[in-house]
Amino acid sequence: MANAVPQTSATDTGSVDTFDAIIIGAGVCGLYQLYRLRQLGLSVRVFEDGEGIGGTWYWNRYPGCRFDSESETYGYSWSEELLQEWNWKEHFSGQPENERYLNYVADKFDLRRDIQLKSRVKSAVYDEKANRWEVELESGQRTRAQYVIAAVGVLSARYLPPFAGIDSFRGESYHTSRWPQEKVNLAGKRVAVIGTGATGVQLSPIVAKEAKHLTVFQRTPNYCAPLRNSLVTEEEQRQFKANYPEMHKKIRTTAAGFMHEFDPRKTLQVPQEERRARYEELWSQPGFSKWLANFQDIMTDSDANEDFAEFVRNKIRARVKDPVVAEKLAPKDHPFGAKRIPLETHYYEAYNQDNVLLVDVRETPIEAITPKGLKTSKQEYEFDVIIYATGFDAVTGPLTQIDIRGENGQSFKEKWAEGPRTYLCMQTVGFPNLFLASNPALCNYTVCAEMIVEWISDCIRYMREKNLTRIAPTPQAEEAWVQHMDDSAKRTILYNTNSWFMGANIPGKKRAILLYAGSAATYRKECQEAAAKGYDGFVLQ
Ligand code: NAP
Repeated sequence: MANAVPQTSATDTGSVDTFDAIIIGAGVCGLYQLYRLRQLGLSVRVFEDGEGIGGTWYWNRYPGCRFDSESETYGYSWSEELLQEWNWKEHFSGQPENERYLNYVADKFDLRRDIQLKSRVKSAVYDEKANRWEVELESGQRTRAQYVIAAVGVLSARYLPPFAGIDSFRGESYHTSRWPQEKVNLAGKRVAVIGTGATGVQLSPIVAKEAKHLTVFQRTPNYCAPLRNSLVTEEEQRQFKANYPEMHKKIRTTAAGFMHEFDPRKTLQVPQEERRARYEELWSQPGFSKWLANFQDIMTDSDANEDFAEFVRNKIRARVKDPVVAEKLAPKDHPFGAKRIPLETHYYEAYNQDNVLLVDVRETPIEAITPKGLKTSKQEYEFDVIIYATGFDAVTGPLTQIDIRGENGQSFKEKWAEGPRTYLCMQTVGFPNLFLASNPALCNYTVCAEMIVEWISDCIRYMREKNLTRIAPTPQAEEAWVQHMDDSAKRTILYNTNSWFMGANIPGKKRAILLYAGSAATYRKECQEAAAKGYDGFVLQ
């Protein structure tokens, strides 16, 4: 088996540490990947940009940040001891607790000794002759490895719209995904929040409580549904711990990796009264049940979707006192569930507060950020703080911002210019031994992430057992997978909706499905079948 000790070699430009594998990112995927590769006896180095571990749960520390997945389903499933030791305090756990959890995991499994923090990867270049990747950090530090596993996350490259004058603002400004470690004091301040995606929706009601005044700049309203969070009781805790094996078995088979299961009945064939009662029942439940336990055809049939969408609009109208504001908050330009549903707590009620103003930037577009605040086509607003909840250059962004060069010096960024090109979302042709370890499915993050990490680990084990040193997909397999991703998305309402799923939130980004739009269970099956057939669709040498 492998020599788990890194080697150091001298080169013309200084010494280079050599590992069996380099993992980029110490988030949910990266931490587990490190654990699994260590078990195989590989020498591994993890490079993490942050000053701490946790990825998403390190960076997104804005007030209100929390799971939209049930806590017990989001935690790692691979250590019974961990499952029994860890007590989730809330049904939808908040960022501080989630960060603590991942730090607890890192300590429990002694992961930190292989993680180098404050280490942003600048480039990864494949040396064909040596079949090694050379990874260089922003600091200039260089390392080599046979395998590179990019566990960079799907939502880690922040998006800041290029507003004119953005640097001229004299107050404080923050992007939610780069929130400071120290508390940001908003008391007595005039605050702007730009963006009403899942982040803005979690953040705004909390800002509304603390700030002197909050102005929310909305471009597209979302169908937000009540989270209905609560504390986990001792009895519930006992039940989680007793039922973990059964629960994990189940969430590996559902469409999106949750306990919720779609109802196979056709929406409009269910009598109206019964349908209405079912909607109310779903609405009263916590979490994503109103989306993922709804009638399945709301994801494929626009009439079915509209029936539920109108139900949601009426829920919004009932909660917002000013009918003009309510109408602005009620989405009409896209179907329910075509974007990830923001789960909220007192979001709509915040607009009933005297200190909260909603500005529709479709009516009055943002023209510039000014030294004093923000100017729309109608007026200038003065602020002490501007918060950008403007999202991410999803999926491709975290990879294309690293200068990755494969065979014949081919640029990864250029190869992915028209959208992601992979086989099984695991690898891309021309970049051997580079694995993409981020959950690409529309799924409860950890559930699918674990599967991917295990697939990659099993693949590397297989290669070592068979004395194989190089793996990359065949061009045919890649082409067929790209087509399959596109076809799967076309069958759903996701395809024609503008969202980060389609890269449509970034001006100039090529429109393409970025996630696997089929069911997570199907994705799992596809990956497992390829592996069972000796990594069918890959060339192993
Ligand atoms: P997002 O969904 O992309 O929302 C970004 C917001 O910024 C949108 O309202 C967008 O408007 C607005 N925006 C962007 N550019 C703008 C511009 N030039 N002018 C005005 N408004 C602009 O990003 P996000 O809210 O950070 O959420 C991204 C994903 O992260 C979610 O879908 C979810 O998967 C994940 N997330 C999960 C949780 C959780 O509960 N666990 C919490 C937060 C985020 P348009 O819609 O018009 O583009």
